[in-house]
Amino acid sequence: MERNPRGRLAALFSAFFLAATLAGCGGGSVDGASTTSPITEIPGVTAPDDASFVDSTSPIGFYTDGSIEEPTRLPDESAGLLKIFRLRNRNYASASMVRTLVLAAAAWRAEFPTGDRLQVGDITDSNGGYLSGHASHQNGLDADVAYLKSNHVERDPNTNGPNGFAESFVVNGKLTANFDLPRNWAILRDIVGRGNVGRIFVDPAIKAAFCRNAASLDPDLSLAARTEVLRRLRPYDGHDDHFHLRIKCPNGHPKCVAQTEPPTGNGCADVTSSLAGAADLRTPEQISDDDLGLDEG
Ligand SMILES: [Zn+2]
Repeated sequence: MERNPRGRLAALFSAFFLAATLAGCGGGSVDGASTTSPITEIPGVTAPDDASFVDSTSPIGFYTDGSIEEPTRLPDESAGLLKIFRLRNRNYASASMVRTLVLAAAAWRAEFPTGDRLQVGDITDSNGGYLSGHASHQNGLDADVAYLKSNHVERDPNTNGPNGFAESFVVNGKLTANFDLPRNWAILRDIVGRGNVGRIFVDPAIKAAFCRNAASLDPDLSLAARTEVLRRLRPYDGHDDHFHLRIKCPNGHPKCVAQTEPPTGNGCADVTSSLAGAADLRTPEQISDDDLGLDEG
């Protein structure tokens, strides 16, 4: 797999965390809105200034009890991105979600120009609210995304996805050979790098694999940035065939109800000890995430 130099992007990413540290901002503002990323240059994208970005849609309420007014739609395709399960008509989203996915996918594609694209499944219904098969996905701020594959096979996007994401990448607690660890790490890093991610739910074994390998996969990334990416990856059973991206309430939307921030630190000790003990992985913090295992894609 050809891999483009990414020193500039790593530097920008580091600058984001440095700026966040200097500004003393670790979380949301008073109304719980997101802290937007000052990363303004991403290869292959003409990026508007994140700090001045205004979400024109209206996410309302909480992820599991909300709606969205005037949603926009994720494009069927953009650089590095493919909308799948199109016949489900669940491509409605906040502008913030669309922007996060499109810009992150483009940045990631510049580093990995070939192979399967980022395949996005369910986001939200046209009016938001309850979405069958899911506890959340109600206000345009949640999206399910297929993991990237070593065999690079993309699915037919023009179906209703009767079998969901279908392919599990964790068998007996271990990743399968078809889980493309470097590319999956890179896209998750680039998504978190947008600066408005609340949580990304992944299988506990997948988080543990990133904990073990992130430093060697991404030697140019600062420790602070690596910790921040790992922190946002929340171990959650039921996410062995897709990850669930949850972004924060956009700035300027006081009707959007924020979720508490995940604990500081990379969370790696928790996941490795849980796996070692084969204990119940549903910590109180996870239960409060309130995405109660219904997230079948
Ligand atoms: Zn989901």
